[in-house]
Amino acid sequence: MRRNRRVKILATLGPSSSEQDIIEQLYRSGADVFRINMSHTNHDRLKMLVDRIRSVEEKVGRPIGILADLQGPKLRVGTFADGPVMLENGAQFTLDADTSGGNVNRVHLPHPEILKALEPGHRLLLDDGKIQLKVLEASQTRALTEVVVGGKLSDRKGVSVPDSEIATSAMTEKDHKDLIAALEHNVDWVALSFVQRPDDIAEVRKITRGRAGVLAKIEKPQAIGRLDEIIELSDAIMVARGDLGVELPLEQVPGLQKRITRACRRAGKPVVIATQMLESMISAPVPTRAEVSDVATAVFEGADAVMLSAESAAGDFPIEAVSTMDKIAQQVEQDSNYRAIIYAQRTEPEATGADAISAAARQIAETLNLAAVVCYTTSGATGLRASRERPASPVIVLSPVLATARRLSLGWGLHCVVSEDAANEEDMIDRACRISFKEDFAKPGQRIIVTAGVPFGTPGSTNMLRIAFVGSDGQGGI
Ligand code: PGA
Ligand code: MN
Repeated sequence: MRRNRRVKILATLGPSSSEQDIIEQLYRSGADVFRINMSHTNHDRLKMLVDRIRSVEEKVGRPIGILADLQGPKLRVGTFADGPVMLENGAQFTLDADTSGGNVNRVHLPHPEILKALEPGHRLLLDDGKIQLKVLEASQTRALTEVVVGGKLSDRKGVSVPDSEIATSAMTEKDHKDLIAALEHNVDWVALSFVQRPDDIAEVRKITRGRAGVLAKIEKPQAIGRLDEIIELSDAIMVARGDLGVELPLEQVPGLQKRITRACRRAGKPVVIATQMLESMISAPVPTRAEVSDVATAVFEGADAVMLSAESAAGDFPIEAVSTMDKIAQQVEQDSNYRAIIYAQRTEPEATGADAISAAARQIAETLNLAAVVCYTTSGATGLRASRERPASPVIVLSPVLATARRLSLGWGLHCVVSEDAANEEDMIDRACRISFKEDFAKPGQRIIVTAGVPFGTPGSTNMLRIAFVGSDGQGGI
């Protein structure tokens, strides 16, 4: 089964989509990678979902990516003695280290590290930004604030501190345990929430040690300030627009989305656009025009993947949400302006064999209108460099490593197939032709271009390209 689009679809699993037949339908409708949100998933459920995805993978015969999304340091206020309180504009409100129940004047903030980081003038955003406080006085154990935008505040509502850098790592104790469990179940990607600095990624990498790709969710202003370093240390990036739009003014999110997408394309790291893409489809079978336009914008910019959150996890129309995204993506990619927009953002190859070969393969494929670029890759690194070129021809990635095929299912335009390394050059061409034919990318008489590193089995040695004819029986020709 092949997709008729280059952009990938990442669908979050949840109560609406935990049954195996729904997961299969989501895959068949277009979901390429499944996201398991560890904020709402215990370890038994994690195992169950992974097992079900793997069964679907076996049934459909295609590698499927799994992303475990770690909750990260989601900050919350404590509880109130007599239920919710109403904070009035202009009133004063204190957050402190006192664990007793709160009232209209104060509440416990069970995060000493935030109390330490707050300084006069810093903002506190509560309940997804609905309530805004400004710090007037701060000490190690209490912060006196003024209510700038008031509202109803109840137990355990989320707190964002966009102006303060918090001195904790991006991984809580829970994240640590979730990460270990996710690695035990061989997930392909782990996402780290509320990344603030490159060290946060380095810390996770020490644990993953290459067993899963590390995706950094960009949802804090501090991360924007160090974007290039974070991209450099990460394997992929998510534009996490939900929290980003709480921590920063909403009107800055579209510009940041473009900036992050372009920086990732330059670096050749997969970038996922996330949150509220088809939000109204949580309860309606059709999206709004604005949502369609939002998905289309991400596709036009050349993002690697677009994501569904509650639409597929908890909505009434998970399958329709995936097929809607699929239809929008296909239409955009056929648009007469699409190629020109994608090309305008392409950057020069870096001075490596893999980039030189990938750029040349793309150019030859486009000049000769070849049916596919076929790319042998063991670690997946060369596959991502081929994707970075955003070629007009489909890219087939052949890897002997199942984990590589699964991981690269997130990458723009990559159709991943598990295939043993070729025995010799003839076998390499023959195998590439047969797979292009069998996977429905090339018809007999069409030509493909093959890139590989010879001798096989030496990582980082991409050094060869060959144009080959697909024979009448799918076998390779000259
Ligand atoms: P979340 O991350 O859904 O885990 O909060 C995505 C976002 O913040 O946009
Ligand atoms: Mn988030």
